[in-house]
Amino acid sequence: MDEYIEIEGAREHNLKNISLRIPKRRLVVLTGLSGSGKSSLAMDTLQKECQRQYMESMGMVTDFISKPRVDSIRGLSPSISVSQHVTNRNPRSTVGTVTEIYTYLRVLYAKLGVRVCPACGQSIHPVFEDSPAVSEEVLEPSEDAIEEPKHMPCPHCHASIPKLTMAHFSFNKPEGACATCTGIGIVTDIAVDRLLQEDRSILEGGVTLWDGWVREYYADVLLAASKHYGFPYEPHLPIRDYGAIARDMLLYGAASEQFQRHFPGVKPPKTVGKGNFEGLITHLLRKYREHDGDPEESGSKKWDPYFMKQICPDCQGSRLGREGRLVTIRGTTIIEAASYTLLPLYAWLKQLKQELPGESLAIWEPIFNGLADRIQRLIDVGLEYLSLDRKASTLSGGEAQRLRLASLLGSGLTGVLYVLDEPTAGLHPRDTHKLIRVLKRLRDLGNTVLVIEHDTEVMKAADHLIEIGPGSGKEGGTVVGTGTLEQLKAIPGSATGRYLREVDIAHPPVTRRAGSGSKLTIEQASAHNLKQLTVSFPLGCLITVTGVSGSGKSTLLFDILEPAAKSHLRLSGDMPGQYERITGLELIDKVIAVDQAPVGKISRSNIATYTDLFTPIRSLFAELPEARKQRLCPKHFSFNTPGGRCEKCRGMGTLQLDMHFLPDVEVRCPVCLGKRFKENVLAVQYKGFSISDILNLTVLENAALFEEPVITDMLNLLGEVGLGYLQLGQPTTTLSGGEAQRIKLAKELGKKARGHTLYLLDEPTTGLHPSDVRHLCRLLNRLVDAGNTVMVIEHHLDLIAASDWIADFGPEGGDAGGQLVAQGTPEDVAAVQASYTGRYLAEHLS
Ligand code: ADP
Ligand code: ADP
Ligand code: ZN
Ligand code: ZN
Repeated sequence: MDEYIEIEGAREHNLKNISLRIPKRRLVVLTGLSGSGKSSLAMDTLQKECQRQYMESMGMVTDFISKPRVDSIRGLSPSISVSQHVTNRNPRSTVGTVTEIYTYLRVLYAKLGVRVCPACGQSIHPVFEDSPAVSEEVLEPSEDAIEEPKHMPCPHCHASIPKLTMAHFSFNKPEGACATCTGIGIVTDIAVDRLLQEDRSILEGGVTLWDGWVREYYADVLLAASKHYGFPYEPHLPIRDYGAIARDMLLYGAASEQFQRHFPGVKPPKTVGKGNFEGLITHLLRKYREHDGDPEESGSKKWDPYFMKQICPDCQGSRLGREGRLVTIRGTTIIEAASYTLLPLYAWLKQLKQELPGESLAIWEPIFNGLADRIQRLIDVGLEYLSLDRKASTLSGGEAQRLRLASLLGSGLTGVLYVLDEPTAGLHPRDTHKLIRVLKRLRDLGNTVLVIEHDTEVMKAADHLIEIGPGSGKEGGTVVGTGTLEQLKAIPGSATGRYLREVDIAHPPVTRRAGSGSKLTIEQASAHNLKQLTVSFPLGCLITVTGVSGSGKSTLLFDILEPAAKSHLRLSGDMPGQYERITGLELIDKVIAVDQAPVGKISRSNIATYTDLFTPIRSLFAELPEARKQRLCPKHFSFNTPGGRCEKCRGMGTLQLDMHFLPDVEVRCPVCLGKRFKENVLAVQYKGFSISDILNLTVLENAALFEEPVITDMLNLLGEVGLGYLQLGQPTTTLSGGEAQRIKLAKELGKKARGHTLYLLDEPTTGLHPSDVRHLCRLLNRLVDAGNTVMVIEHHLDLIAASDWIADFGPEGGDAGGQLVAQGTPEDVAAVQASYTGRYLAEHLS
């Protein structure tokens, strides 16, 4: 068997024709400055080539798939990449369903649950002798195929009652879903008062959804309907004056019960032209259902205001139907069990196992073991504070990555190359060693574990390190050094080595700001796990909010403070989480929250357009003599609108090839050869660079090229947040979570703010090498020096130690958290024994 994966001549993105060996069945850390080329090597070269070779080995045609720019890779194994991109946006997925733990619980409830007879109301206990042998097979999707009688007699009143099956405990199955909300937990009503302007006719905009010719069109449709059925209707009538029949037609449509009751037996017209109208409410609800209640998907955003969402009054949001809801084990319903965090759930299951009659234990052993394994793995990756009913779509990138890691551990796969992207993101230093144990376990199963990481603890634990650099972008792309952390430390060009050597030298003394003297106080916060928490923050400071994962940091900052401050400033109407009172908001003029959510889904947005840099750049190009000669204006330099762009690729430079069942493949546009614009537009040049060239240059290269402050100011800001290596034309969809947050930060900083701004940030050091973290610190300090307040959720000890004030949450995650454990300056917090952050900080400061 090969001992190494051998890469020769890698040239993807900024990689400079590099060759290297990755030892197999080892824990290997890939490090280097942000933008040095780590992902280009791990994801865009290794992972991509693995996939290509895999498809080839399956006999699939791979001619169209662009081969990564690399001479050869030998010794590849199948690979699995675990990135931070949240891929599961299905509103029906929960922690319980994706980990299968809920599936196991369903088996328990179907077989061991105590139910209530719908006829006589007496409890029906499970019959143990009856239990079929339970094996892992029961869990497989073929569960529905197991033929069993569908009914059974109630032992008390002998009424025939439906047998409860596993499906009755699944909100994703018709048998188990709450009938009222179809298993979504939320019922949606249409805000009729927003939909209609009662004092206007349809033609005057009485239906707010309809614009322009659409108004006349539907006025005609309704008129045709009124003729078909024979009810009074007149297009000029204000909606307020509609009769009941016309109103039911408008809101519910021709096929609805509401309308049909006026004309029993009359058949609806056949076509829209003859007056067949779906009805406003019916239409909106159908669209909503078709997209499974996902607000992102339910048509366009413009409809959002028309939907009013409410917890389902029937199932109280639990999504389960009546039958499943009433079944108990040890007095606990499956809904309650799913709401437990993992430690209490584990304890509950253990109790249950002990109470089972001895003779049936053997049958149940596999189920309990399956549950215990899965729960234990989640605890191992530091997710013990989650509950099974937590929606997968609400997990952070780091949490989602660790959740996948937990299930990969269970797969037992061996001989696989795992590629992970900063698995410590969102993890408190206290839990890093647990993560390291998990990575080592993956390795010990016989896998190669390649981790992009900046955390020094993980680096110490690695069998082998590879540093890419020495700089970012064009200054990076080579192998700076390999070996152990100690060996890297001795390499002159290594950023990691430099950082470690500087850490060894004593910390310079820091002066802490006392702030402006005023405070922001949140009283009695109780959203999620917060325990009637009252906390004050000094204004005019750099504040870090710390604590283990799940302790309540984001809840306080992003579920309470952000929406409360925004509604105070009349910026949005989002409902904040539960709290009693917030004082001090009157001292703030603006609030800016910057999170790690991806920047837009449209591939047409890039660094230049997102930061609004492209507008002044296009104006500049339109002013050039050649542009004037050709009578070109700014819009001809846009790749988003027809005019100057290549129409074959519509300004993208690439074409998408439809590969049927495989992901689309991108090829270079044969007309413009990837240059995105027409020849004559490319002939306009600034200092020898066409508009297409500008998009291919990096931020820093452009900063050196342009002289106009409107352009260079933003370019410099991007450089300062550590994004100088990005190409201006790089699509924002390709940015990592950390990069996305920093580009948003730069965009916000570009707006000349006056007065006192409150900045709220979520782990801005994600994706940053420790030496990049220093630049970020400087930038945040500048904001504070300008009279603002900056609050940052952080785990990075360098940034925490550099802050003026710390609010430390905990002590643990989930139910065991939600309290303030320590607060004050880093020195104050370091003195608090009960605080995990304090302990690590004490070590760090000494
Ligand atoms: P790292 O993972 O070390 O932060 P990357 O591999 O993401 O660095 O980036 C290395 C270089 O490649 C940077 O100059 C970056 O701008 C460029 N790059 C990364 N992704 C793309 C892409 N999709 N298109 C063009 N350039 C890219
Ligand atoms: P932190 O930011 O400190 O990691 P969070 O504020 O995200 O912690 O979580 C605190 C608690 O609230 C955890 O138990 C978590 O599972 C729960 N929680 C967080 N977000 C949600 C949500 N959207 N729905 C339900 N529970 C949540
Ligand atoms: Zn319901
Ligand atoms: Zn083209």
